[in-house]
Amino acid sequence: MQRIDTIVDWILTERCNLNCYYCLQNADTRKAECGPVDYSFVDNVDKSVLFHLTGGEPFLVPNLIELCKSLDSNGHYLSMNTNLTLPVSKFVKEVRPDRFLFINASVHYPYRMQHMEPFMRHYRELRDAGFFVYSTVVMIPDDFDKIADFIREHQSQGLILLPKLMRGVEKGKLYPDSYTNQQNAVMKELVASAIENMSSDDRERFRIACEHNVSIDNWWEIDTRTLGGTRCFDGLRYIRITETGDIVYCDGKMLGNIKTTGFATLTQLCICQYEDRGLCHKNI
Ligand code: SF4
Repeated sequence: MQRIDTIVDWILTERCNLNCYYCLQNADTRKAECGPVDYSFVDNVDKSVLFHLTGGEPFLVPNLIELCKSLDSNGHYLSMNTNLTLPVSKFVKEVRPDRFLFINASVHYPYRMQHMEPFMRHYRELRDAGFFVYSTVVMIPDDFDKIADFIREHQSQGLILLPKLMRGVEKGKLYPDSYTNQQNAVMKELVASAIENMSSDDRERFRIACEHNVSIDNWWEIDTRTLGGTRCFDGLRYIRITETGDIVYCDGKMLGNIKTTGFATLTQLCICQYEDRGLCHKNI
């Protein structure tokens, strides 16, 4: 695998077909319409970039397949977050898995507790086509024990399923800080069993995913410890493109817009000004 110069967290759309109460995106923009995404700038990107496609729900983007093909043909790496509710058959026929480092498929327990069949079908289609997919489920505090059992049950059916920390305030308590020691121990045990059940090939691909994922749960260390916010990859290699094309740094500082300033100029500006570079993990 080539060295990756820059990791771009790209919010293709804020629109989503689910409405999770713990979602970090704004509830109003999640309902807005979603048109095609302008990806013409990628033709002029001469660095090796990992584009992490996220949302909202990326599969709602009408030109997702063309966008992925363009990133692939320009020699970039890809990864994606999805809730895996929408059909993937056309996607697996047209997009090559070779440069896709990982797909993180989120199981949203309130929607899925009695409705896992479509998720499993889409998961298998992607896996059969050669994509490395792993799944996560947010550990809702009130349903913690039920979700832990749900994870055990689906791990035993061959699903790579890991606990994901809740972020935010729930019934007046701040999470993930308010998980009990016992709950933290259960999550560690679930991470360990997920890794133990992987084939050696999946384990290596999961290691690569953990190395490059902008998500903060520290699974590769068999832990769910949070680092407190967005990973900035040494303060040199992370930027985020928002739905409107704004380019922002890990602390939310705006560097410009993809349509007016251009990508190459902006990534050169991506140099951390904080003394504790790489360690600050500011939330955005
Ligand atoms: S699926 Fe993801 S983006 Fe959609 S509402 Fe749930 S948490 Fe938000």
